[in-house]
Amino acid sequence: MSSFNTDIAIIGGGGAGLRAAIAAAEENPELSVLLISKVYPVRSHTVSAEGGIAGVMSEDDSHEKHCFDTIRGSDYLADQDAVEFFVNEAPKEIIQLEHWGCPWSREENGDVAVRAFGGMSTKRTVYAADKTGFYMLHSLFERSLKYPNIKRLDEYFVTKLVTDFDSTGGETNNEKRAEAMPSEKHTEAENISAKTPRVIGCIAMNLQTGELVSISAKTTILATGGAGKVYSFTTNALIKTGDGMALAYKAGAELKDMEFVQFHPTGLPRTGILITEGARGEGGYLLNNLGERFMERYLPNKMELGPRDIISRSIMSEIKAGRGFSGPYGEYVHLDIRHLGEEKINEKLPLVREMSLDFAGVDPINEPIPVMPVVHYSMGGVATNVNAKSSLKGLFAAGETACVSINGANRLGSNSLAECLVFGARAGLECAKECKSSKLIHVSARELADEENRIAELLQRTGSKTVATVKTKLQEIMQKHAGIERDHEGLVIGLNQILSLKRELKNIELGDKAKLFNTELTGYLELENMFVIAEAILRSALDRKESRGSHTRSDFTERNDEEFLHHTHVLQDQKATMSLSRKPVTITKWKPQPRVY
Ligand SMILES: Cc1cc2nc3c(=O)[nH]c(=O)nc-3n(C[C@H](O)[C@H](O)[C@H](O)COP(=O)(O)OP(=O)(O)OC[C@H]3O[C@@H](n4cnc5c(N)ncnc54)[C@H](O)[C@@H]3O)c2cc1C
Repeated sequence: MSSFNTDIAIIGGGGAGLRAAIAAAEENPELSVLLISKVYPVRSHTVSAEGGIAGVMSEDDSHEKHCFDTIRGSDYLADQDAVEFFVNEAPKEIIQLEHWGCPWSREENGDVAVRAFGGMSTKRTVYAADKTGFYMLHSLFERSLKYPNIKRLDEYFVTKLVTDFDSTGGETNNEKRAEAMPSEKHTEAENISAKTPRVIGCIAMNLQTGELVSISAKTTILATGGAGKVYSFTTNALIKTGDGMALAYKAGAELKDMEFVQFHPTGLPRTGILITEGARGEGGYLLNNLGERFMERYLPNKMELGPRDIISRSIMSEIKAGRGFSGPYGEYVHLDIRHLGEEKINEKLPLVREMSLDFAGVDPINEPIPVMPVVHYSMGGVATNVNAKSSLKGLFAAGETACVSINGANRLGSNSLAECLVFGARAGLECAKECKSSKLIHVSARELADEENRIAELLQRTGSKTVATVKTKLQEIMQKHAGIERDHEGLVIGLNQILSLKRELKNIELGDKAKLFNTELTGYLELENMFVIAEAILRSALDRKESRGSHTRSDFTERNDEEFLHHTHVLQDQKATMSLSRKPVTITKWKPQPRVY
């Protein structure tokens, strides 16, 4: 079949995508929902989430506290209306998920158990041992099977979003956008002009056959996850190449706050495999080569339970001061959980033990675990409002690919899984509503043919470069120049190197010409997307001449609310180059103040 029609197309089968599908299907059983995923849904990155999901569940917690922790954690860059909505909905989603079969860990008295997490003022993180994402994703997937109106295209890779500008032919997209947005680069997501393009569907490749199909949809939801793979050292799965953000950008949508990339303090050297914050939540210590709990020096009131940006920077300071350990894969510190004892480790942190044994060769019952900061999460993404709407008509986004923004300059651990559920559900409901009044516009046969020709040309192209070499180079540049600490000079070098490397795309020859599961071809398409993400991170980071949350500038070491209390938006302008604009942060009742713990 080469074309599909649906009311709602959802791109991504992780936590956010599945939650959106269920919400839409439940809202209106008459609606057709098509879930498209480049991997089988239960292999989405959500499956690897470990430590837990945040929501106000215990008596000594409150919505006020969760809002404040999230906003302070974000270094006051979160949009506070979104945070309030999120905090209010998160507990309902957690309970809902239990009713759908998710086996949350329990306290002795039978209550749902909560553990401490970084930057939270109280125990707020609900978990299922240290395999939370695995249980959540399977519960969502199984639930989604209940609805006959959810159909799936598993192992279909979306190569392009199609807008009504594309399908009407004639002038180029950018000319039309120029006309549509004369000085409207600053369009508010809510305030979509009548001439803004409408996303009418997408083109996807069936990975089992190599065939391209067109998907016409009244509304489209991006739930494609993050972009950690633009760095060489990351906890992120291979599939996290920022496809959805890049697809949205190329279709004319705005991306937001791309400079904010989270480094998680505790990754295993070499592989970057994550050791969950739950290990510190359960009482683990961070130690330097003198055996000191060095967080005493940086955050004595919070110690190992500070937010991720501060702990990652503290580890780097220890290493710089010569108090780290060196190994074949770089310098690291120790995470010590020996004092928790074998029973607790096996009960609450079985995966931490298993992975330390398999990937670092240490048994944390007897030895400390070597850890170093590692790229983990994209705070930025497709700019959306609190209803998950992007700046384009017909296009919504939720989960890690979106920037709503509840995370601002630094996400608190365990807020992300809750964000996937809350805004996934929101996106599904909003699309269901919008479908009542919107008409299906068909993706034209010409649009499909153009994309088929583009892919055919890629397969025929000759050149001296490979996907692997260019991708590795891109990742190295980002790791070196857009890491935990940045400065003007490094960012400029990084940007110039990325732009010149991008020209090598044309020089890549694909060795594999096969139709069936051509991972070299999809690797190429992902690499194109990664260049969009890399450029957006670097340009946004250059523009933000202050230090806030995860964005640390060694040449501008202080937060500067006077000039930089704003979101950074990037948009493709009429010359197909990336243009930046600044938009206000929504402040409701938490006035920005120094971020003290
Ligand atoms: C190791 C690890 C542990 C974590 N632990 C926690 C935790 O304990 N608590 C917490 O709150 N957060 C945690 N996080 C973060 C959290 O898991 C993620 O932010 C969240 O799961 C993202 O979910 P998602 O639905 O947005 O995307 P994903 O789960 O990444 O799913 C993306 C989906 O999009 C599809 N897709 C992407 N591109 C395309 C394309 N071109 N065409 C078709 N389909 C496409 C993929 O196939 C996939 O189905 C962790 C992250 C990692 C990496």
